[in-house]
Amino acid sequence: MDEGAHPLKSAASTRRIIHTLSTQHPNADTELHYRNAFELLVATILSAQSTDERVNQVTPALFARYEDARALAAADAADVERLIVSTGFFRQKTKALIGMAQQLVERHGGKVPADMALLTELAGVGRKTANVVLGHALGVPGLPVDRHVLRVSNRIGIASGDDPERVEQQLCKALPKQMWTLASDVLILHGRRVCRPKPLCDRCSVRKECEYYRTVVLTR
Ligand code: SF4
Repeated sequence: MDEGAHPLKSAASTRRIIHTLSTQHPNADTELHYRNAFELLVATILSAQSTDERVNQVTPALFARYEDARALAAADAADVERLIVSTGFFRQKTKALIGMAQQLVERHGGKVPADMALLTELAGVGRKTANVVLGHALGVPGLPVDRHVLRVSNRIGIASGDDPERVEQQLCKALPKQMWTLASDVLILHGRRVCRPKPLCDRCSVRKECEYYRTVVLTR
């Protein structure tokens, strides 16, 4: 984690920085393919330790075979494992997917609840996954924090620390609700394309406001 000993930027600066990044990355959105909240929930669980691209390769066949929670709840584990094997950790993911689908059927009539607490009670669903689904498929603002959000926000100085929940709170406090989902999307995209582990600072639209650029890059 590139954490510097600097105070967090003001809420106004954080808003401006997210706005600037959203101009650099127009149309930022999750890169996972889905048609409804159930499919996004499944795709997001599959994306752990994998790439969105790889997940998008397996989900068409998976969703064709198991189109909703009821179908997936009754699935044969070996069949699901075969369909998702290329995403890695396929045994754990299969267990989580079938367990999650069974819980959706038993507790929520097969529907994905638009509620953080209810979502995170489901098998294989943490805050990050819940936030992705809430923000993109259920219209409830959420700010999923993954490794890209952690790295980029710490470098710029709009968050501090490597605890995803703490960083989520810091960013949510600085930003209006309607910017939460966008903020997560642009920080993830910026982390993938520009602010990589080895950052491409000469291509970055917020380098003038970035603590890492000021304290590390410029002092080399
Ligand atoms: S200036 Fe460099 S370190 Fe800072 S956000 Fe941009 S790419 Fe990342």
